[in-house]
Amino acid sequence: MVVDLNRCQSYGQCVYAAPAVFRFHGEEALEYDYAPAAGTRREVERAAAACPVQAIALSRATEPAPSVTEPAPLVPERVR
Ligand code: SF4
Repeated sequence: MVVDLNRCQSYGQCVYAAPAVFRFHGEEALEYDYAPAAGTRREVERAAAACPVQAIALSRATEPAPSVTEPAPLVPERVR
C-alpha cells in the first residue's frame, strides 16, 4: 500500500477507517504502515474507499483477484 502524500489533504477519513494502520503525527502529518498486517485488509480497503482524494493505492496483496479472463480478440491476428 502506498499513500500519495502530495495528494493527501489530511482529511483523516483513513484514520477513522483503519486506526491500526493510519495515524496523524502532529496536526496534519499522516503516518501509516507500509505493509499492514493481513488482518487489517478490510479496514485498509475501507480507508482507501473513504479517502476523498483517492490518495491510497492498494498493493496487489490487498486487491481482490481478477475474476474474469481477458476476452479473445474479435479479429484474428494476421500471419506474416
Ligand atoms: S483519507 Fe486520504 S486525504 Fe485523508 S488523511 Fe487519509 S490519505 Fe489523506
